[in-house]
Amino acid sequence: MATQYEVEHNVQFAETQPRSRRVNMDSFFSLLNRVSDSGTATPHNNPHATPTLPDMANIFRLLQDQMQTLASTAPTAENRTFLMDLVDTLDGDILDPPDRLRGVGQEFLDALDRVGRKTLRGDDDCAICKIPYLEDPYCLVVELPCKGAHRFDLECVGPWLRSKGTCPMCREEMGKKKAAAVQEDEDEDEDDMDMIYA
Ligand SMILES: [Zn+2]
Ligand SMILES: [Zn+2]
Repeated sequence: MATQYEVEHNVQFAETQPRSRRVNMDSFFSLLNRVSDSGTATPHNNPHATPTLPDMANIFRLLQDQMQTLASTAPTAENRTFLMDLVDTLDGDILDPPDRLRGVGQEFLDALDRVGRKTLRGDDDCAICKIPYLEDPYCLVVELPCKGAHRFDLECVGPWLRSKGTCPMCREEMGKKKAAAVQEDEDEDEDDMDMIYA
């Protein structure tokens, strides 16, 4: 029901434009680019990347701002829970910043599979901003190489991938090609555990 104020002044509160939920990440990227020195450097082997810990903390603080801002206008409880979980994860990175960025390089984002408009359904939306992809005539949807093949707007997931290097949904590490070696280590650990509990 309209309030007295609205009736008298004939005010119609503008519906919030869903696209306005996306957060401007310019300061994030300018800091990230300064810290990572070169946009083409590989994340795990960049001798030039010697960011200071406060710089690192600020990168994650700006990323946390993105998720916090979206969470504050989350259209569903599920979306809010998802975003607040990312915010909580980033608390750890801010309090105890890693000594090097584990994110992927820009070339990784450029090479991600693009999802064509024709394969998107009307109610498919981005888990981060919850805006249906097809509402944006120029949507740029990417599919991550995780097992869940999770999809997001490139604009929404880009900052997380560049700094965290994982899928925000399932936390699978991106661009990891040494799974076999890791698997061996895990087997050894299991053997150790067997010995302890034998
Ligand atoms: Zn989105
Ligand atoms: Zn995933």
